[in-house]
Amino acid sequence: MEERLRAEALRSLPQVDEILRHPYMEASLALVGREPAADAAREAISHVRGEILSGNASDADADEIARDAARRAQALVEPSMRRVVNASGVIIHTNLGRSTLAAEAVEAVNQVMRGYSTLEYDTATMSRGSRHSHCESLICTLTGAEAAIAVNNNAAAVMMVLSEFASEREAVVSRGELVEIGGSFRIPDIMALSHARMVEVGTTNKTHLGDYERALTPETAMLLKVHPSNYRMIGFTEDVDISQLRKLADEHAAEGEERPLVYEDQGSGALLHLDAFGTYAEPTVAASLRAGADIVSFSGDKLLGGPQAGIIVGRRELIERLKANPLARALRLDKMTIAALEATLRLYLHPEEALRKVPTLRMLTESAEDVRARAESLLDSVAKLLPEGSANLTVVPEISRAGGGSLPMCDIPTYALEVRFLRGNAQDCGRHLVQDCPVPIVARISHEVVLCDARTLTGDDEMRLVAGGIASYFETVQ
Ligand SMILES: *Cc1c(COP(=O)(O)O)cnc(C)c1O
Repeated sequence: MEERLRAEALRSLPQVDEILRHPYMEASLALVGREPAADAAREAISHVRGEILSGNASDADADEIARDAARRAQALVEPSMRRVVNASGVIIHTNLGRSTLAAEAVEAVNQVMRGYSTLEYDTATMSRGSRHSHCESLICTLTGAEAAIAVNNNAAAVMMVLSEFASEREAVVSRGELVEIGGSFRIPDIMALSHARMVEVGTTNKTHLGDYERALTPETAMLLKVHPSNYRMIGFTEDVDISQLRKLADEHAAEGEERPLVYEDQGSGALLHLDAFGTYAEPTVAASLRAGADIVSFSGDKLLGGPQAGIIVGRRELIERLKANPLARALRLDKMTIAALEATLRLYLHPEEALRKVPTLRMLTESAEDVRARAESLLDSVAKLLPEGSANLTVVPEISRAGGGSLPMCDIPTYALEVRFLRGNAQDCGRHLVQDCPVPIVARISHEVVLCDARTLTGDDEMRLVAGGIASYFETVQ
């Protein structure tokens, strides 16, 4: 019986032509043309076919399908990647594009995008130059490294370092550092991909120097240390720091073996020590190099506050080998990223300037009192727009997060506008802010309230958008 109904429903599915002739599709045809509109119709029909087959739909409604096809066609002409207002209080929000760029970096990108550039042209010799040259001396100045190379992202950097120096050899790593960074980046997988033989030592919570020592063999190419980024182990824990690893590597060499390289994947990789975060402050790249790391790699768009990139620093002969690796070509940066990275790095020449001008640093270090003033002015703007009896608005103390796997234990005190609903509710309002506002607004929804953290809301324009978004929600509820 059910089979028969299903077959009937499948037979009733409209043809593509029928959907194209439907009045709902008239505008779509004009908007995107016949072939793309037909594709949209096919997708919409196929979607309903799937629903019928899986038992989620019992019939095919041509009006519904045409409406869906029109939506799909419309999506073709609308930008998919759009600006978003981040009212979540998560500063390095990976889903929202991590770091926002300093005005100087945006301007630099603008310049090289609009015309030709010195990407691989050396004006001094009037001949071919290297794209690696633009950021290298800045990175070296800021970290004390001998040499540097920047590639597509830090995952690429880790991959490249392991392939170049530990392929078909052994890389020793603590079991406490076999981390997953999110998405599909897991240290053991990257090891396998680069053909490094992973030698795990220690336990989940404790790894001692002796564990590394016992793992050393003539095949040991590298002692790898991975910054655990997005989590912290607390309690009965122990790890081995870079200076101890370096000492061990040197002792191994003194016994006539090849000296293993000490490589730290630092993840966030701070260029400035953020004193404000006390003991939670991330170790700086310079400190790791001073402690004896041969190579350090870190992201461009986490604590650094620049574009997506992976920066590798270290001894010159090692970096030269990386530059000659074919992966350096496959994973190289494009001109826009180089421009943005160079401009961001330049701001760090004056740390005070970096703290003011690099948005990520500014948001991380802005005082709670300054954030509170913005939260209060947001409250005033929203209050002016809301009819009586809509909601209770208050400015409340809250916690912002660094995000992006940086400073995971750090509670950053902040202030947020709290909207408590007398009409409507927090879930609907949160959905409205994201889906119905011309610029989606990502706020925090917590139980019955919507929280707009003023720490990540910068500029009057964003404040206006948030106020307008909240007000427009109350226009939709009776
Ligand atoms: C974030 C992170 C990575 C990956 O860096 P991307 O720039 O996102 O590719 C690798 N290792 C650690 C320890 C990280 O924190």
